[in-house]
Parts: sequence; structure tokens; C-alpha cells
Amino acid sequence: MKSFQRKKYLPALIVCVCLLSGCTKGTSAKPISRTDTAMGTIIQQNLYVTGQTSQEDGQSIAADVSALIGHLESDILSWRLETSQICRVNENAGKPGKTEIPEEFAQEMKLIFEVSEASGGALDVTIADVVRLWDIDEYAAGEKADFQLPQQEAIKKALEDTGFERVTLEGNLISLPVGMKLDLGAVGKGLACGRIEKLLKERPEVTGAVISVGGSVLTYGEKPDKTPWKVGILNPDQPGSYAGYLNLSGQWFISTSGDYERYVEVDGKRYHHIIDPSTGYPADSGVSSVTILGNDGLLTDALSTACFVLGVEDGLKLVQEYEMMALFIDQEGNLFMTDGMEKYFQEAE
Ligand code: AMP
Ligand code: MG
Repeated sequence: MKSFQRKKYLPALIVCVCLLSGCTKGTSAKPISRTDTAMGTIIQQNLYVTGQTSQEDGQSIAADVSALIGHLESDILSWRLETSQICRVNENAGKPGKTEIPEEFAQEMKLIFEVSEASGGALDVTIADVVRLWDIDEYAAGEKADFQLPQQEAIKKALEDTGFERVTLEGNLISLPVGMKLDLGAVGKGLACGRIEKLLKERPEVTGAVISVGGSVLTYGEKPDKTPWKVGILNPDQPGSYAGYLNLSGQWFISTSGDYERYVEVDGKRYHHIIDPSTGYPADSGVSSVTILGNDGLLTDALSTACFVLGVEDGLKLVQEYEMMALFIDQEGNLFMTDGMEKYFQEAE
């Protein structure tokens, strides 16, 4: 794999599906679409089902996908909802004994901690207290007003309760040391895409789909006209426009992390939502957006956050370890990508 610098360029942003309708003329596949809000983001589903499938049945598959996302949010991933596994794990921090979590989720947690290890802690889902201290998500969403920079002392103190290597995960039993909390914001959307793929595989009526869960996207099957799925990579400087497109056939997972997604600005300085666990401050690796392309949704999401923290050079090495592909856009608008990515990436005109 090599990385290279391309011509100076307007920077990129989040992954967003920019084309789906395809051409159904001459084919019998039917398009089905549905939009929801969940996991603090927009879920856009565009499916194709066989001609024999009624519109009602097609819509019911899309409803099942929405229900799956709702289940993941409220029963597993959300740190806000008392009903979730994560909330239970957090509440039990420091208590004697271990907390049992579902087998599938335990496997996913194992993978998350493996990426933490491989990235030298750049991805660390135990930094919940630091994330809460900044609360960028809430300020950026307008849920909170009058942003104040956290005190350095408070950041130092919150960092003391972090460290993925202090989590015990044995089989499906997990325990956190006292004071620690988990926040799966960096991986939840990709995890959801992975679970959605499993659901679609059980529905032979679905011949193609592109589903975006915020900054993570799943492409599946094919469009009726057999042209590739086209996934737009936003321009970090001008999120209304695209830096380029990924042209993808069949099944892929794509995740983007960007500094333009959720941020507040104070005195001309941008404070975004991706924290460098080694400092407790928003990551400052010189990167504006990272897009990972691969065959595992949880991994692409975990790696996008890790690579954003690591920056271009170390990020490219990490992606190579996982045999995935990456596109980085730095703060000057330069593009860096792995060899594999070139095959799919098309610059915006
Ligand atoms: P993403 O957009 O996938 O990069 O995820 C960003 C979200 O993950 C933030 O809103 C936080 O909730 C959480 N987060 C921020 N920094 C980190 C980090 N270094 N490791 C793990 N989670 C993080
Ligand atoms: Mg991520």
C-alpha cells in the first residue's frame, strides 16, 4: 500500500448516499425507501425488492430494519437509556461481580477492544466522562447553550477514570473499574450496519440496498440497472458539496469521521467531537475527514475514529493491518488514500 498526496482540493466530509433510484425500467425490482431518526442521526433506507414482493411487504422489511436500529439503541448501545446493556454495565462499574451481556454483543465488544489495542488507545470507548465534559454533541445539536471550555484540571480528573486496558471482558462477562463509563458513539452506527446486513441476508426478497446510519453506510446486492452504488463523500469545508464519490458494486461498509460533523467554534477555533484519549482534547492530527471502506461495519466505524485521532501516517498503517481501505482529507484539503481505494474513488468534477 502506498499513500500519496493529490492536488490541493476542497476538503471532504461525511459519507452520504447521493444516488439510489437507479433505473427500474425493463426490470421488475421495486424501490422502497424510508427515513427515520434514531441514534441521534438520520437513517436513510433505499431498498430494492423482487417484483413479486408487494409494496406493503417491502415496506415491512424497511420497518424491520428500523425496529432493529431502535432495539440496538434502546436495549444495547445508548448510555442515556436505562434500558440498555451499556447503561447497566456503566451502573455496575466498581461493584463486585461481572455483568453478563448478550453473546453477539460480547463478540462486538471484543473487536472494539482489539482495535483500541491495535491503535495504541486512539479508539477508546472508556472516555465517556471526557466526552461528557466537552458535551460537543449536545452543544452542536443546540440541546445546550453557552459553551464553556472545560477546565484543564477537570479534563485531567476525567481522564483518570479512562483506559480500555482496565476493562475486564471474559466471554460475555464484563466489568469496569469504579468511576469508568463506556460510550459507544464511535462504533454504534457501524455496528448497526453490520447487524442490518445480517437481517437483509435473511430476506431473499431484497435484491439490493443502500442504507445510511449517520456517517456509516451499507451497500448490499445490486441496483436493477446493474450500475454501481454511488456514495458521496462530503467536502469538510463545504458540507453541502462532495469531494468525491465511491462507486461500489455489491456489499460494502463505509464509515466517515469528520471534524465538520459536530463542533462548536470559540474565538475562531473549532472544537469538534472526536477526542484524543491521550490528551482529553479534540484530536488535532491535521485530518479533517477519514473514510474507511471494508467488509465489516463495526470495524470501518472503529477505524474511522481511530484514524482521525492518529492522523494520516499512523492511520494508514493501522488500516493496512486490517486490510481495509482509507481516504484521508487533511486540513489543507489534500487527499491521501490507500492503493485499493483508488479503484473505487472518483473525484468530484
Ligand atoms: P465517530 O463520528 O464515529 O468518529 O464517533 C465520534 C463519537 O465517538 C463522539 O461523538 C464520542 O461520543 C465518541 N468518541 C470521541 N472520541 C473518541 C475516541 N477517541 N474513542 C472512542 N470514542 C470516541
Ligand atoms: Mg467511528
